[in-house]
Amino acid sequence: MGYRTYTCPTARSCGGCEWLQVPYPIQLKRKQAGLDELYAPFLEATPGLAFSPILGMDEPIHYRHKAATPFAPAPHGRIRSGFYAKGTHRIMSCSECLVEDPRCRPILTSVARTAEHMRIAAYNEDRGSGILRHAVVRCAWKGDEVLLTLVANGEQLPHERAFIERLIDFTPDVTTVALNINMKKTNAILGPRTRTLFGSGTIHDELLGCRFRIGPASFYQTNPEQTEKLYQIAIDAALEDAPEGSSMKVLDAYCGLGTIGICLAHAAQGKGVAAEVTGVEKGAEAIRLAKLNASDNHLEEACRFVCDDATSYISALARQGHQFDIVVMDPPRAGSTPEFLASVLAFKPRKVIYISCNPKTQVRDLETLIKGGYRVASLHAVDMFPHTKHVETVAVLMRA
Ligand code: SAH
Repeated sequence: MGYRTYTCPTARSCGGCEWLQVPYPIQLKRKQAGLDELYAPFLEATPGLAFSPILGMDEPIHYRHKAATPFAPAPHGRIRSGFYAKGTHRIMSCSECLVEDPRCRPILTSVARTAEHMRIAAYNEDRGSGILRHAVVRCAWKGDEVLLTLVANGEQLPHERAFIERLIDFTPDVTTVALNINMKKTNAILGPRTRTLFGSGTIHDELLGCRFRIGPASFYQTNPEQTEKLYQIAIDAALEDAPEGSSMKVLDAYCGLGTIGICLAHAAQGKGVAAEVTGVEKGAEAIRLAKLNASDNHLEEACRFVCDDATSYISALARQGHQFDIVVMDPPRAGSTPEFLASVLAFKPRKVIYISCNPKTQVRDLETLIKGGYRVASLHAVDMFPHTKHVETVAVLMRA
């Protein structure tokens, strides 16, 4: 029997789903084989250690609940929107995308049409002229809330009120709109400041029985269905040898909206384990919301969140002699820093649970932790981005 493959009208020019022609079960096998090769030094050094089978999606489509479009001026007052053609800044229009939540694209397109109607100029990136740069939309996975963020090359949009009123008329699914200000010549979508134009400024989503507020400037996983699987691996590793009635101090480093620490504290509570979580993250909005997320889930006593650079914060804790039983770390693609890892070693945690979106930097960082006296206890992978080469991994380390 042949495998099912998926087709997408835009994939050819978009280039985002470079593995779309490969049947999904074969994609998973390829990812697994790539990991076996990359982590071979650890697998060979540890008898009995094998990568757990990668967790794929049952239906690997429409998994991205966040989507974005750049805008550019076109002849006759039109505005181009869609996505950059592979390797260029040429905007191709996009009517639908196989991997996005189907609610996303029509909303992004409506922004362009409404701005044309209101004669709001799209940003010209060569000249630095025009105002409307990007739109980013985030749809809740559990629920109907939708957050739309408009990115402007200025403090405010022309006829801002009228524009938003008209936009909301055309996109009734949108429950809140934010304006982000980005006046720099940069490829980064978001600039440093954001204000709310309509609604509460945040939407809610749910992961593993906890409810989270999500804001325009904070990181939140794009594939929540797979995120639950990823977090569950981390939670199981943290709690598997914690008896009822015990307590544990947990560091949640690079914590974003506090999602991992809060889900962990919630699961611990269900098991009769008292988890005391300290989360650190550099994004101010994310930490403001992480604190609210803790109290929304009645975990404000169990979870505290600090806005700081992860390395400088935990280096200071290490110098003060702080200890943690469990360190959960989820750094960006660049991985962590040598000073961060040295501080982790100084905490002498029972376990380090390292979640990574870039296996190459994870392997580099694991070598440092192993030299510092830890061994790899288990390795797991979750397919967060079907049809792409990307894969998310979890390494669980224990004191050797
Ligand atoms: N654990 C979260 C976020 C992971 S993404 C989740 O699962 O959703 C990585 C996070 O690290 C982002 O929120 C980013 O803002 C943050 N970050 C990146 N560099 C950092 C640094 N040097 N110090 C603290 N946080 C950092």
